[in-house]
Amino acid sequence: MTTTNASGAELFDHRTRAVLHELEAGGQYKHLQMLDGPMGPSITIRGVGEVDCFCSNNYLGLANHPEVVEAGIEGLKRWGAGTASVRFICGTFTAHEQLEDTIASFLGVEAAYTFVSCWTASEALFPTVCEPGDVIVSDALNHACIIDAMRLTTVIKKGVHKAVYKHSDMDHCREVLTKARETAGDSGVIWLVTDGVFSMEGDLGNLPGLRTLCDEFGAMLVVDDSHGTGVMGDTGRGTHEYWGMDGSQIDIFTGTLGKALGGGAGGYLAGSKTAMEMIVQRARPTLFSNALPCTVAASAKRAIEVLDREPERVEKLRANTVKARKGICGVGFEVLDSPTAICPIIVHDTAKAIAMSKRLLEMGSFAIGFGYPVVPEGEARIRVQISAAHEDEHLDRLIKNLVKLKAEF
Ligand SMILES: *Cc1c(COP(=O)(O)O)cnc(C)c1O
Repeated sequence: MTTTNASGAELFDHRTRAVLHELEAGGQYKHLQMLDGPMGPSITIRGVGEVDCFCSNNYLGLANHPEVVEAGIEGLKRWGAGTASVRFICGTFTAHEQLEDTIASFLGVEAAYTFVSCWTASEALFPTVCEPGDVIVSDALNHACIIDAMRLTTVIKKGVHKAVYKHSDMDHCREVLTKARETAGDSGVIWLVTDGVFSMEGDLGNLPGLRTLCDEFGAMLVVDDSHGTGVMGDTGRGTHEYWGMDGSQIDIFTGTLGKALGGGAGGYLAGSKTAMEMIVQRARPTLFSNALPCTVAASAKRAIEVLDREPERVEKLRANTVKARKGICGVGFEVLDSPTAICPIIVHDTAKAIAMSKRLLEMGSFAIGFGYPVVPEGEARIRVQISAAHEDEHLDRLIKNLVKLKAEF
């Protein structure tokens, strides 16, 4: 038997301190801001004060909407604090059924099923629906939850393959699908998965192009529209609506309730009744883990109802986005072009992006600088996110501050 004098606790402490030190030295250490008050167009940060918020996903301003908050309070009173059980034992409440019906009809699909997050929904989907011989084909810039769900799938189901195509490159996607078809043969299913709106670039997945390719290769199209739902399309249905597509043209949606739809928490899968039934029967994150709290379900349902009743929120978001993009370009910054509410200002250098966002915060506009390794070397950016809750005063202050920033850097 070998023995060692070092305890696990000592070893862990030593190597963890080394990692944290390296992060600090490399300027990658995350210092969390403490918010004292609700999410809104302006927020109060401990030690900083009140600033305009340009880095939340509160796209429709519903996170602190009185009706959405009230619905949560009513839900808490009606259904209590929690489910105290997984869904298949005794933890499915009418709050879940109502929310899932609302999501399904909002998206224009047969059925939906909710989870505590979209991350969980992704990890529920692929390991459950994929079988050995299947191939998952993914855009290179898909969200981390898709990447991890793919990895998990290949561990849980040996014989599931994965392949990646260059970001939004339809020619390369076709090449990858051609190979995938060979791998999958006649009996394997190909799953093509894309973000609807890509979170770091703010650009759109080419859903019509991908649908055509999926039809040609007999593949299933899965769209994670977390940044598109409530944002894209005239009535905020999402990226498919923007492209003039119907919900039925997307085989499976994954999405979040933690962004435009109230911002609380929660995620969902939506698609055919058969697909959702399979999830209920076999997905480990629902078989072994509690459901969304009813209070959150009630808030999210109300958020969708408010959005449906007031499509002018989507219109205001679009107008704000156009104004912000024009303003940013007018200052002389390079902003990646797209119709989404995510406006990445490219400043190239990581240290510069971080220093600029710090200075911007001092001036009263809160937007985060992202650098390597979150985005490729040389493509560091300040990501500005627009909300329907922003008024002209917020946007005007942002532009005024960006003019100052441009002069200083
Ligand atoms: C934000 C985001 C998620 C994570 O959503 P949660 O509900 O917070 O887990 C998943 N996918 C995409 C594309 C996202 O942008």
